Amino acid sequence: MPLGYHGPIMNTIWNEPTIRDLVARLELFRETCRVTTLVEVERATRSPFHILVACVISLRTKDEVTAEASARLFDLASTPEALAQLDEATIAKAIFPAGFYNTKARQLRQISAILVDQHDSKVPQNETDLLALPGVGRKTANLVLGIGHNIPAICVDTHVHRIPNRMGMVSTSKPEQTEKALMVLLPTDVWIPINDLLVTFGQNQCHPVSPRCSTCPLDDLCGRVGVERSR
Ligand code: SF4
Repeated sequence: MPLGYHGPIMNTIWNEPTIRDLVARLELFRETCRVTTLVEVERATRSPFHILVACVISLRTKDEVTAEASARLFDLASTPEALAQLDEATIAKAIFPAGFYNTKARQLRQISAILVDQHDSKVPQNETDLLALPGVGRKTANLVLGIGHNIPAICVDTHVHRIPNRMGMVSTSKPEQTEKALMVLLPTDVWIPINDLLVTFGQNQCHPVSPRCSTCPLDDLCGRVGVERSR
């Protein structure tokens, strides 16, 4: 039994049928919720550059703020060339009040200049080149690979780290460990969609503080590891 387990006896075996059942339930749940900003950007643009920019803006920023900030910036510049031409103050003003807007403005300008100078104005399709871009960590790199380029990768953000640990699917302390554990556990075709499924679920049901366990569609699968307070 995982350390910190507080829930009922947990007997879920995380084999492929159970994972498929979990994904199907998460898909059903998502149909009842607002589409997340990054998926909205992907559907509207089909552009890895737009996804990369929106993902940088989204770090430590609420989804609604990201949506509005990204839209304002894309109105001013929607290509690496155009964004590299803007000054940092203009970018910062466009993405305000996104968290760390001054730092992100500098990074977005630098990223755009690097794409123009070193990558023929295209977003790289490999992790090494993506991670070399200012402000781009594993989370952003994997999201861009996945929803931007359709290359299987698991983007582990706060929700994708928290929920599988709560459920007892994994027992990890760092997002990098969660990414590795989920790569073993999840079929490859689930790697890209799992981020949006768990982000939507985390924003609407399995909240960081006081998750809504009493109405949870995953209740019978979940070990509630470390859940001290719930609704
Ligand atoms: S809401 Fe509660 S029961 Fe549902 S997945 Fe989260 S911790 Fe588990």
